[in-house]
Amino acid sequence: MTSLSSGMMWRGLIESYRAHLPVSEQTPVISLCEGNTPLVYAPRLAAHFAPDCELYLKFEGANPTGSFKDRGMTMAVSKAAEDGAKVAICASTGNTSAAAAAYCAVAGIRCVVLIPNNNIALGKLAQAMVSGATVLAIEGNFDDGLRIVKDLTANYPIAMLNSLNPYRLEGQKTGAFEVCDFLGFAPDFHFIPVGNAGNITAYWKGYREYHELGKIETLPKMCGFQAAGAAPLVLGHGVDAPETVATAIRIGHPARAEEALRARDESGGLIDSVTDEEILLAQRETAALSGIFGEPACAAPLAGIKKLNAQGYFAQARQELGRKPVVVSVVTGHGLKDPNTAIRISGSPTVVPAKNESVLKAIGF
Ligand SMILES: *Cc1c(COP(=O)(O)O)cnc(C)c1O
Repeated sequence: MTSLSSGMMWRGLIESYRAHLPVSEQTPVISLCEGNTPLVYAPRLAAHFAPDCELYLKFEGANPTGSFKDRGMTMAVSKAAEDGAKVAICASTGNTSAAAAAYCAVAGIRCVVLIPNNNIALGKLAQAMVSGATVLAIEGNFDDGLRIVKDLTANYPIAMLNSLNPYRLEGQKTGAFEVCDFLGFAPDFHFIPVGNAGNITAYWKGYREYHELGKIETLPKMCGFQAAGAAPLVLGHGVDAPETVATAIRIGHPARAEEALRARDESGGLIDSVTDEEILLAQRETAALSGIFGEPACAAPLAGIKKLNAQGYFAQARQELGRKPVVVSVVTGHGLKDPNTAIRISGSPTVVPAKNESVLKAIGF
């Protein structure tokens, strides 16, 4: 096979996992070289959060638009381009719109995004606007936006880019492949934030496919975390007015609810919730103890790991396995997406005169 690049050059997840994806020679590959994100070993964070675990962070903030949404979007937009789409649409809490706008820009497809008015993180809004998408702030929440997208795509020649589009999940499942390829085995536990529940569904699909192919011998327990103010899967019913600082998971009626519950039950995992206070503390502690700065939603599973370790959840697994369980938590989006929240929780810098002695005094020397 000939290619423009060779050797160590990464050419995006469609080229890397082509055999596992529904693409053909006819599919134009719309890529920004997404995927191949770092799986970062985090021993200092583990010592503080979960001393019974070996903890790894899958840093999806390293994708081209700063979130895992790029994995689904390279597939969804490639397939839309294959179908000859001229216009595409999505509803978004922010990251889907940033990814859709970027991949549609590559493909030359007009992109329309529906975001909740006044409730999207600053960085995500900037990304959608600068990429030339038509950005409509609707007077409603994500769930309202998704309802409109479903109606319009069913009745007009407009491609649907939300994760109801099955190609999104196909792209996203490659996150599980990368975890296994990197470790050489499957983790014991896979932690992940849950909003619309597409990603937990996709990871579980990816792990099961690798298992069926004999590439891994075991399957992880899938552990999803929601925010307490937007926890329909924990409560067992939809939430009409979801509220949380973690805007990426501020979703009251998840489109993939059934699949998420199936992933939980088939894997022997759990879906639980944490409060906004726990989320913001875990966000700051994760950055301070691992160097990985994720947006608030990413801290939900990390706060969950902390909570479960305190309850003895991993101590039991450690005893059963005869070693520390390997835990992967997905840091789904970059902390720079939401600078306002980060600055609000961490405070402002101390102002000192521009003198050696002032700096020395301030640092206690
Ligand atoms: C979209 C998103 C989520 C939620 O993923 P779902 O597939 O909707 O469950 C979590 N974190 C970030 C950063 C996201 O962008």
